[in-house]
Amino acid sequence: MPEALTDQAKAAAPAPAQLVGLDRETLAATLAPHGLKGYRIGQLWQQIYRLGANEFPAMTTIAKAARADLADHFAIGRLAIESEQISKDGTRKWLYKLADGSLVETVYIPETDRGTLCISSQVGCTLNCRFCHTGTQRLVRNLTAEEILGQVLTAKDALDDWPAPRPDRKITNIVLMGMGEPLYNFENVKQAMLIALDGEGLGFSRRRITLSTAGVVPMIERAGAEIGVNLAISLHATNNEIRDRIVPINRKYPLEELLAACRAYPTLNNARRITFEYVMLRDVNDLDEHAHALAAMLSDIPAKINLIPFNPWPGSAFERSTAARIHNFAGILMDAGYPTPVRTPRGEDILAACGQLKSTTEKARRTRPGLDAA
Ligand code: SAH
Repeated sequence: MPEALTDQAKAAAPAPAQLVGLDRETLAATLAPHGLKGYRIGQLWQQIYRLGANEFPAMTTIAKAARADLADHFAIGRLAIESEQISKDGTRKWLYKLADGSLVETVYIPETDRGTLCISSQVGCTLNCRFCHTGTQRLVRNLTAEEILGQVLTAKDALDDWPAPRPDRKITNIVLMGMGEPLYNFENVKQAMLIALDGEGLGFSRRRITLSTAGVVPMIERAGAEIGVNLAISLHATNNEIRDRIVPINRKYPLEELLAACRAYPTLNNARRITFEYVMLRDVNDLDEHAHALAAMLSDIPAKINLIPFNPWPGSAFERSTAARIHNFAGILMDAGYPTPVRTPRGEDILAACGQLKSTTEKARRTRPGLDAA
């Protein structure tokens, strides 16, 4: 049967190589055997990252025969959207299915003065912060640079947000605050962010990308030197005793070391502060004495404090601090001179708020016990 043969032939053909996520040099080396060299590489870069082209036939600046050849061999990374949810507050959450079947989530948060895309750096997370849903997902792997950028490109398609750098762009900011610990996937995150920063492509500025870490101290210095984007620290406690309990990576890199790494982060000044994220957990870390300790602790760091009301998820063991408590806590910090916005939970009805992301890879996994050893 010819149809079956065609399917077989398809199965046997090698998967097209991905061009997204390659730096310019590698892109040039990859395409040289296909006759694309010199300024043609820059043209292709612009087509992909500035104009948002996701297939070759429409690239009229490239000779027709070359386009056909490229289409036979290469793909321009987009992720498969498994599902999309839109919250009543306009927040959108995409569940992307990766080539190996893993699932990751990306969230778009529109606000009046900006639109923030919250992207993931890993499938799952190894940190096990006690209040975070993602940490309960067991399957973990690093995302490739292509998959990290793929979240941005696919979201831009869905939001009709091309060409890239224009004043009314919908995605104005990127935050690495989705699933995973970005500094445990340093090389791929770096590669993807350098491409996102490239002025001939996506053209994000360093001030509009924020990398959030729970405190992988040895990598903070490298992040500053080699990526140079804004830094956010998931702090959540003012002493090692509490932090050891709720953010277990603190047992490896205690507060003193974390704060020293923050002080050494490059080009800090009052216009460019480190954001300290602080999840408000009722009766755990939300007392007045904690607020005073926090103010004292950050006194020698240009800091902004972002209070995040705890977002519950099925089975979570914490409660959100009361609104009055959060208000008091913020008041103490503002009196001490810190900008202290309280983060409004967004997209709660679709479990898109901070700490609520958890793809269902694990469920698929239970039906495939062979993977348990992984
Ligand atoms: N691993 C990185 C990136 C994740 S950022 C990091 O820890 O910084 C996600 C942010 O949401 C972190 O500040 C995290 O501590 C916070 N968070 C996690 N679970 C939460 C929850 N249930 N409610 C509110 N914030 C939460």
